[in-house]
Amino acid sequence: MTKAIRIHAPGGPEAMKWEDVPAPEPGPGEVVVKHEAIGLNYIDVYFRTGLYKAPSMPLTIGMEGAGTVTALGAGVSEFAVGDRVAYAGAIGAYATERALPAEKLVKLPAEIDFKTGAAMMLQGMTAQYLVRRTHAVKPGETIVVHAAAGGVGLILCQWAKHIGATVIGVVSSEAKAELARANGAAHTVVGYDKLVAEVKRITGGAMVPVVYDSIGKDTFHASLDCLAPLGLMASYGSASGPVPPFDIGVLAAKGSLFLTRPSLATYVAKRADLVATANDLFEMVRLGAVKIAVNQTFALKDAAAAHIALESRQTTGSTVLLP
Ligand code: NDP
Repeated sequence: MTKAIRIHAPGGPEAMKWEDVPAPEPGPGEVVVKHEAIGLNYIDVYFRTGLYKAPSMPLTIGMEGAGTVTALGAGVSEFAVGDRVAYAGAIGAYATERALPAEKLVKLPAEIDFKTGAAMMLQGMTAQYLVRRTHAVKPGETIVVHAAAGGVGLILCQWAKHIGATVIGVVSSEAKAELARANGAAHTVVGYDKLVAEVKRITGGAMVPVVYDSIGKDTFHASLDCLAPLGLMASYGSASGPVPPFDIGVLAAKGSLFLTRPSLATYVAKRADLVATANDLFEMVRLGAVKIAVNQTFALKDAAAAHIALESRQTTGSTVLLP
């Protein structure tokens, strides 16, 4: 047997149970990974609450981890027992060990420790595709980043600054504003009331070519109002709840805007894209251009406390769970 955090029905943090589960066996094309650290992500909350539909019940939630390969299924040639690996985007991570398709894994560079590896894959690869592919951020651009002191947010601020962009970071407190500025945000705005006016002031009325919005319901319309004509709204998360249906005519009225609701799964669906995205992220970390802030650590069995901290906006940067 091994241990995992499972839900039997969607619910609050108390829905997560620390249970004995059968030890994993690798199927064809799979490996078993013994976790050293597991990444906490907002998507774990969406699966726990039922906003995202569980593939089956009971469900071991969690999308991201780092550890050591302990067993190989038939046909796996790219990995060996003992390899240090990391992954994002394979549900079932809240467990001491688990089986998963080898094609989801990348080797973790020797200089990146397991905690950092588990913290960075999902949030870091998300930041990568957002600044490189959803909208290729250019030197000299001014951009808006919501939840700028959060997991994805801190990485976005650093990466965009490294490219040469000016980041306007949006946060909910002065302490988070300070952290965002220490990580590359040139400007910070606390709360949403003055966001549009502040973006107007900072850009001299030009507004911005892209808004990275992970908040959803509470910020959607304010974010559209921050965009210059032909600007791109990258609505990549729903921390405050999903954006309700709206009239697409609004996009025309506000300046022929573009809107995308991107997902990491699409951007790394092909193995070559996964490897390239991870390598770009590893390179940024190696260069020191992006530092992964593991600001909270919880025991895996205390995942409920970690969810409460994340949902009540108490966390900054990344959080890991230790088995
Ligand atoms: P964060 O560390 O950013 O935590 C969420 C933050 O959202 C909070 O700290 C808080 O920052 C802000 N927030 C605003 N309103 C609320 C609210 N009502 N309840 C809770 N938090 C709120 O989490 P992650 O870095 O894990 O994820 C960030 C976002 O990115 C999430 O929305 C997630 O779904 C999304 N995401 C999307 C991906 C994709 O491919 N589409 C992949 C990965 C993440 P503050 O207090 O400063 O407002």
